[in-house]
Amino acid sequence: MIVVLKPNISKEQESSVLSEIEKLGYKPHVMRGVERTVIGAIGDERTHKTLESLLTWKQVESVMPIQKRYKLVSREAHTKDSYVKVRQHFIGNKKFHVMAGPCSVESESQLMKTAEAVSKAGATILRGGAFKPRTSPYEFQGLGEKGLKLLAKAREETGMPIITELLSENHADMVAEYSDILQIGARNAQNFQLLIAAAKTGKPILLKRGMSMRIEEWLLAGEYVLSNNNPNLMFCERGIRTFETYTRNTLDLSVIPIIKQESHCPVVIDPSQGSGRSDLVTAMCKGAVAMGADALLIEVHPNPIEAWSDGTQQVSLDTFSRLVEEIRPFVEAAGRE
Ligand code: PEP
Ligand code: MN
Repeated sequence: MIVVLKPNISKEQESSVLSEIEKLGYKPHVMRGVERTVIGAIGDERTHKTLESLLTWKQVESVMPIQKRYKLVSREAHTKDSYVKVRQHFIGNKKFHVMAGPCSVESESQLMKTAEAVSKAGATILRGGAFKPRTSPYEFQGLGEKGLKLLAKAREETGMPIITELLSENHADMVAEYSDILQIGARNAQNFQLLIAAAKTGKPILLKRGMSMRIEEWLLAGEYVLSNNNPNLMFCERGIRTFETYTRNTLDLSVIPIIKQESHCPVVIDPSQGSGRSDLVTAMCKGAVAMGADALLIEVHPNPIEAWSDGTQQVSLDTFSRLVEEIRPFVEAAGRE
């Protein structure tokens, strides 16, 4: 159920509503907007008492059921777009963001060179994998904590916040200590214990879509983050597996308007895993921006053919800086900055 409070009520009036919701057997999740406070009351409506009694309270404006299986991520719970604060930036606001960097952190010189170049070209957030989910156990698995330390160093030098993948519950505290955003990868998108551990760090979460995940399943995976008291969630489309072989994955851009209809959370597009082909990345970015994505996540490498992972899809430093220039008119046309 959604309980909307009247504007300008006191803290005490809000607390008394929260206690009543708990007394009736529901777990309240408070979402404070500029004008109104909305409370998502989560619980089994078949076994708990109805919340409609709250309608008689003078500080309560309305009480509505949420019809969808996902509750807190749904537009019904929060009609305005939400945004996620990442250090000095807000993702999901008017300003468009580009997250860029190598698939894997390989060395200090590779990371610093990439970080400086992408920052100069206009990227606002630095990506880089330190723990890599590789299909084969014989492939490069990432530098681990050493990679996280290099990312933190790159943040210090460029001022860009960092995003990196959290692969295991055991690493949640360690990765959260270094990273500004925790990426949950496609292979772990329905690893619910990992989602809970990530949510509990309180850090912003970027949740990739699993490669054969339906949109409803993805939204429900996101619900694990919000229902564990972490409102800082972004959905990231990175392509799904289809019969097509010209691309590594089929980047499903239809999720942009769908997630925008169904949810208030920001949408990020990853055209790198989404196509597997560096020659397609710029075009996919233009499409994503035009369709209303809030940010892009792009793999960039100083020498893609020598990359230790995902060489075919990483763009060079020069291609990246041209890409940023080429998407500018699309950013403006989409009403973003
Ligand atoms: C990545 O971003 O490098 C990655 C492994 O992504 P995904 O989980 O989408 O495959
Ligand atoms: Mn990759």
